[in-house]
Amino acid sequence: MTAQARPAPLLPESSSLSLIDTHCHLDFPDYQADYAAMLARARGSGVVEIITVGIDLPTSRTAVALAQAAAESESILKIHATVGVHPHHVNELVEDDYLRLRELASAPRVVAYGEIGLDYAKEYSPAPLQRHHFAAQVRLARELGLPLIIHDREAHEDTLAILKEAGPLPAGGVMHCFSGDAALAEEVLAMGFYISIAGVVTFKTAATLREAVSRVPLDRLLLETDGPFLAPVPCRGKRNEPAFLTFIAAKIAELKGCSLAEVTAATTANARRLFRLT
Ligand SMILES: [Zn+2]
Repeated sequence: MTAQARPAPLLPESSSLSLIDTHCHLDFPDYQADYAAMLARARGSGVVEIITVGIDLPTSRTAVALAQAAAESESILKIHATVGVHPHHVNELVEDDYLRLRELASAPRVVAYGEIGLDYAKEYSPAPLQRHHFAAQVRLARELGLPLIIHDREAHEDTLAILKEAGPLPAGGVMHCFSGDAALAEEVLAMGFYISIAGVVTFKTAATLREAVSRVPLDRLLLETDGPFLAPVPCRGKRNEPAFLTFIAAKIAELKGCSLAEVTAATTANARRLFRLT
């Protein structure tokens, strides 16, 4: 929970990039002590926009407020917000909250609905309740015309089943912090979703994920830190922050056999397309 200012190691060529961190939790207490410095480091390492993601009603509110504050203060980078209730937190949801979520999701600078989905690894909320609220929030997002940010941990089959049952989702969506193999990636792509890659791709143990990433076309990939969690190598074990996004981009460039500039151009264009960023 402590957050000390620490210099972010930069890749030499990174400051001229235009990266978008499509998934970070800027409202977490981990960033409170050095928020402005953390954003400055992000900008210095080539990150130009950040999507800050809500996980319950209060954090969705804060996400919207942070995005608004950045817009009003001519912040050094753009911040967008999302609204949604994470599977860990759906046991706190009451029916009335849907009215509040709907209202909040219509606020300026909200670019997606999420993160929502299923988490059978932790099961902090009972699985049937997770499925109920995932399906209900997918319906709400569709009604609002917002793309989905989906959290799927050890629940691949049910996640895809609920998305398929929902029928056409014209605004699309992304599998955030993708953790599956090449076969799952193929299925997700066939459904029209993007695949977002977090720092896990740099971990020694992630050979299966790296194999999947090497097969996903560049025009379907997004980048994210998922900060403050999952800091990539060489920062593994530290608090994660948007400045570390370059290490994920560099790993993808290596896997794809292309340049960091190419990965940046493609993933930034993808993020702008999916989230309709202007
Ligand atoms: Zn997240």
